[in-house]
Amino acid sequence: MEQKEIIEILKNDNADELYQKAHKTRVENLGHNVYLRALIECSNVCSRNCLYCGINRENKELKRFSLSKDEIIKTAKLAKELGFKTIVLQSGENQVYDLKTMCGIIEEIKSLNLALTLSLGEKTFEEYKQYKKSGADRYLLRIETTDENLFQKMHPDGNFKNRVECLYNLKELNYETGTGILVGLPNQSIESLAKDILFFRELDADMIGLGPFIPHNKTLLKNEKAGDLELTLKVMALVRILMPNINIPATTAMETLSKNGRKKALISGANVVMPNVTPILNRENYSIYPDKKGVNALNKEELKKLYKEIEEIGDKVSGGFGTSKNFKKINK
Ligand code: SAM
Repeated sequence: MEQKEIIEILKNDNADELYQKAHKTRVENLGHNVYLRALIECSNVCSRNCLYCGINRENKELKRFSLSKDEIIKTAKLAKELGFKTIVLQSGENQVYDLKTMCGIIEEIKSLNLALTLSLGEKTFEEYKQYKKSGADRYLLRIETTDENLFQKMHPDGNFKNRVECLYNLKELNYETGTGILVGLPNQSIESLAKDILFFRELDADMIGLGPFIPHNKTLLKNEKAGDLELTLKVMALVRILMPNINIPATTAMETLSKNGRKKALISGANVVMPNVTPILNRENYSIYPDKKGVNALNKEELKKLYKEIEEIGDKVSGGFGTSKNFKKINK
């Protein structure tokens, strides 16, 4: 499938067939297993000023927090007790955890026999290398958009080439590498979405996370229109068809835009859900966009409801680590 065909599909209003095909592709290649990842938002301190993001450094009204190493480990242990096999450690871009501290955190989480995904932003090759040596398995770094002009507008202090390089560094270091985009950024074209999809394939990403852009009232984009759920789902379905073996989360932003966003994603190609285990007191301050509707894993009833929702669509929560089937481990 090339750019022209992808554009045609993205422009087509009737997407039911596309969603069905994506679901069939997922089931044929990965079966009915859904993998849960426990998300720990460990710090909202951020040195960047990404225009769309509510935790960007210019939001002076936000109460900043950083979990201590002990708090992170305690939360990871709790996630393990709740049955999770993977921890996702995410933060704003900061140096709150120096290299030694972060490597210590990684080692302790890995000693719990859990898979670990990091999502800490752009780091140097050496930092990624040391995290990997300490045991980190996966890294998630969305490219956000491959339209370089748009990227530069959205990230005034960012550098597109550096972000791409980070992704290739992660691949080289043999991380299970995840990337993704925001769908519906102001002035984002359908053509650029098609290029984003082709970029995922070229990178040979192991996981792709897509979210609709949701305006945050404390950012410069507060008056912009939110991204469209159907368009996000179409991009996701196409990614599934083109990359049958990768992991794709039904993202919280999808659920935030529509009550059934998660369910729709799970029957249109997604195979992962990331419930939130961040300590409740800190959670509202990790406000990348307003009204986040993620699954609160600390509420047993809510977690049970998620299991039920997954069973109702004919899937089951897997007890495995959920390593991407696309991932080719290199023994160095
Ligand atoms: N600092 C890390 C990084 O740069 O990858 C991870 C943290 S960042 C807050 C996590 C993700 O939140 C980003 O990749 C972005 O796509 C998403 N995000 C931020 N603001 C958003 C918004 N207004 N609407 C939807 N998603 C948003």
